[in-house]
Amino acid sequence: MFGISSKRRAATNFPPLSLYNTESRIRENFVPLHKHDVLMYSCGPTVYDYAHIGNLRAYVFADTLKRTLFYNGYSVNHTINYTDFGHLSSDGDHGDDKMMKGLSREGMDISLESMHLLSDRYIKAFNDDLTALNIIFPTQFARASDYVREQITLIKTLEEKGYTYSTSDGIYFDISKFPTYGRLGNIDLEGQESGIRVAVNPEKKHPADFALWKHGALGFKSQWGTGFPGWHIECSAMAFATLGKQLDIHTGGVDNISTHHNGEIAQSEAATGKQFSKYWLHSEHIQIENQKISKSFGNGLTLQTLYDEGYTAHEYRYWLLTAHYRTKANFSLTALDGAKQAFTRLRRFMFEDWATEKGLPSTEYQQLFVEAINDDLNTPKVIALVWELVRDEKLTPGEKRATLLDFENVLGLGLDIDPEAGRIALGHLSPKDIPADIQAMIDEREAARIARNWPEADRLRGTIAQKGYQLEDTAEGPKITQTL
Ligand code: AMP
Ligand code: ZN
Repeated sequence: MFGISSKRRAATNFPPLSLYNTESRIRENFVPLHKHDVLMYSCGPTVYDYAHIGNLRAYVFADTLKRTLFYNGYSVNHTINYTDFGHLSSDGDHGDDKMMKGLSREGMDISLESMHLLSDRYIKAFNDDLTALNIIFPTQFARASDYVREQITLIKTLEEKGYTYSTSDGIYFDISKFPTYGRLGNIDLEGQESGIRVAVNPEKKHPADFALWKHGALGFKSQWGTGFPGWHIECSAMAFATLGKQLDIHTGGVDNISTHHNGEIAQSEAATGKQFSKYWLHSEHIQIENQKISKSFGNGLTLQTLYDEGYTAHEYRYWLLTAHYRTKANFSLTALDGAKQAFTRLRRFMFEDWATEKGLPSTEYQQLFVEAINDDLNTPKVIALVWELVRDEKLTPGEKRATLLDFENVLGLGLDIDPEAGRIALGHLSPKDIPADIQAMIDEREAARIARNWPEADRLRGTIAQKGYQLEDTAEGPKITQTL
């Protein structure tokens, strides 16, 4: 969908995109399964309550990764799911169901209809958070309750292939039939430390065997009776249904690794005999006073808490980018305040001091930018580079502004959008200001891009640039800046 601009490609020597793969435990140069199209699945929220600011890091991270893929010229078919049943308070198969907890918290009756209503409310709240954070929506959101049939079919396949057994409370996956179970994160299945040996259910053959189906008075109908599919099978079935049997990238938070993602791998690969995802990427936790943010610890701040304290979602995004996604970051209002001050200065340059300045992006800084971002998404280095650029006296304000607009494609900080003027991009021409001959070329290039005729799309972009108009592909379509 997004081709590399010929100008950027000519000027910039793109180093390989190197990403840390949790499975191999090393950085690898990204090579997709298909030439241009990347298939990416991100584990989504359990929609029983508002997402806390820790949860939201997982989606800012996935968004930064996706924008980096766009910047490198890939298109991305991306799914984020909503878990609207079946996620227990442990990530395994014991504890309360989070949706049930949400229903009783809100005084709602325990029924499938109420679960739907409750999740509707928190799906909307989650989408509002994504929008506020300037996160590009995935190609599709997949809601678990819309894919029950697919989950049942997948469990049946596993049953037919001999990977399951039945207990009084459900159908379980037998990890002894899948010898590489636990390979993600190199889980010590026999060790005490993993906690896996604490067998809660004596009917399980191995403590790490996990539920594919749980019987219950409430739930969906199936050949095994009424009940709910397990949490892990939701993701495998929705990934298969929306993206196919093999993914390029699967993302999540580090807490998903040991149980949820090892479960997804086992079920998916047992069913298909193929590798499920080529790359597994995980973001670390946000902490407050060195404790993980979690609703159960009572420190689950939401974006609304930040708004009430006078901060914006973009300021929070800026703060997140100052830390690498694989490091734990300690959140405090003091830290956010520092981010707010820096970010306000940056916005002032873009929307006031340099608002009408024109120029071309600095190829030198673009080079440094792509080297940092392709280095396993080194956003702290990119933020440092932004300030180096701002201070660089060799560049004109117009060049600085154009360079920042280029970085903005990955940063997603809203440096191209003035919220006061609605979603009108400052610096980007509104359609009525684009001359007809340029618009005709933009349309022609768009057609070439859709037809994946990259050489023609790049040639047209070059011609448009020679006429003094810079074209950038964004999630909302091509944006045009006048450079001459
Ligand atoms: P959940 O709604 O519990 O399924 O979690 C949604 C996402 O948030 C998962 O990818 C988790 O790994 C992630 N997550 C949970 N707590 C934190 C935290 N404190 N910091 C960062 N990510 C988190
Ligand atoms: Zn998942």
